[in-house]
Amino acid sequence: MSVAEKTFESAIERASYSKLIEHFIDGKFVRAQSGETFDNTNPATGEVIAQVASGNAADVDMAVKAAKKAFDNGPWRHLPIKERCRILHKVGDLILANKEILAKAETRDTGKPISESLEGDIPRAAQNFHFFADYAQTISEDCFTVAEDERHFAVREPLGVVTLITPWNLPLYLSTWKIAPCLAMGNSCVVKPAEWTPFTAYLLCYIMQEAGVPAGVFNVVHGFGANSAGEALTRHPEVSAISFTGETTTGKAIMAAAAPTLKKVSFELGGKGATVLFEDADLKDAIPIAVRAAFRNQGEICLCGSRLYVQESIYKQVLDEMVNAANNIVVGDPQDKNTQMGAIISKEQLEKVEGYIEIGKKEGKLLAGGERVAKLAHGFFLRPAILADLKNDSRCLQEEIFGPVLPIVPFKTEEEVIDMVNSTPYGLSTSIFSSDVNRCHRVSQKIRMGIVWINCWFARDLRTPFGGQKASGIGREGGKYGLDFFSEQKTICYKYKS
Ligand code: NAD
Repeated sequence: MSVAEKTFESAIERASYSKLIEHFIDGKFVRAQSGETFDNTNPATGEVIAQVASGNAADVDMAVKAAKKAFDNGPWRHLPIKERCRILHKVGDLILANKEILAKAETRDTGKPISESLEGDIPRAAQNFHFFADYAQTISEDCFTVAEDERHFAVREPLGVVTLITPWNLPLYLSTWKIAPCLAMGNSCVVKPAEWTPFTAYLLCYIMQEAGVPAGVFNVVHGFGANSAGEALTRHPEVSAISFTGETTTGKAIMAAAAPTLKKVSFELGGKGATVLFEDADLKDAIPIAVRAAFRNQGEICLCGSRLYVQESIYKQVLDEMVNAANNIVVGDPQDKNTQMGAIISKEQLEKVEGYIEIGKKEGKLLAGGERVAKLAHGFFLRPAILADLKNDSRCLQEEIFGPVLPIVPFKTEEEVIDMVNSTPYGLSTSIFSSDVNRCHRVSQKIRMGIVWINCWFARDLRTPFGGQKASGIGREGGKYGLDFFSEQKTICYKYKS
């Protein structure tokens, strides 16, 4: 490691224990103009670990003006794409080089197991930059030859200032999934991280500076959503587009706030993913995947298989194996590398999840977990819960719980389970397990979801479109779809003199 690399590593490590998380505007760390801050809590200990600048409309205005100035006058959008992408590659390299520091901070902030931060979230954040830095250089533009002396062709232009608003469940993973394509296309951005998890966005500011992203191109304003920094960003007249990931109800509020200024929007919203086990599934493979799909990241992933439908003839066997697997999940200190399930993000979320377990107990049966972990009572820990004997119209099967709760329901026929899967307002993802290729094909055609996995879960080439149908979203991210969103196409019709 060079001296410069060592110095940077020490700086970012110090920052990862900072007691004050400031905004990053125009290349500088700044406090909220109001001077106000809010608490950042470690969900595993219940301790306040830092104060966070509480952004309002004035901070947002300052950030948007800086981003606009950088867009209008700065070099970023005019750099050859190769040069922009070289800098974005460096961002990815720096994330990987400081993976352990970022992973520890992510785990402290979210309560997720360190193994997931270290092997999942942080490498994926680096991959987001590496992938889009490479992919953005491969996209082509259409050119139509109308006559020997006439060509009509399309060029891509950046949008201007883009707002990126992200949730708390996969903080760096999801924010970089937006930041990388947004900057690759030459835009400048203002990022609003979730109020529960500001830390890795704060550390990313150091990385952006070190990699050479010019001042004003990348800005971060911390704060809340409604009547706070989030809403101010969605209403600001100089913001051209909003890329948002979060709850469906928030998506509706943002769409209404953005309507008067007609902003382009991309929404990745809530989900109620299903896992379907047909009687001809290979259960040796399917059951461990169904367990991971339900409980990974404490069940706090929009793509979780958060309801399990099992064909009648194998229902009893699957129920027993799922209960056994849930009871064996190691719930514990998220910084311990053997922990499989960490803490729920907040006391509010823990109580919300417990509310659904109470509904499940009244309407059906609780077969495993669902109780707090006595030896970890200072944090927000819950044992993974399995519910049974619920009707498909139960709130536990229709609403997004976003926690470690899995209702299991038997079904008889293909038609019946297709109706059950399609019965919620959401349309994000489903996994089907069967060894009958024709059945997999038939069922996947009839399921109204943005993603259908067959005999797998959570696998996806970053070039494929990602997004939800129905109440799960508008638009697609990933590959050229993400680059399309973050750019505007212009047609130029050229008549040459011959
Ligand atoms: P949330 O909607 O409460 O908050 C997300 C972000 O929006 C936060 O930064 C928040 O401050 C901001 N926000 C809230 N209200 C706002 C408003 N009125 N105007 C502007 N910004 C506002 O979501 P959450 O609780 O942080 O995250 C969990 C949700 O995210 C779940 O529904 C989950 O399914 C969804 N999610 C979806 C995907 C996907 O790809 N489809 C991925 C991850 C999470």
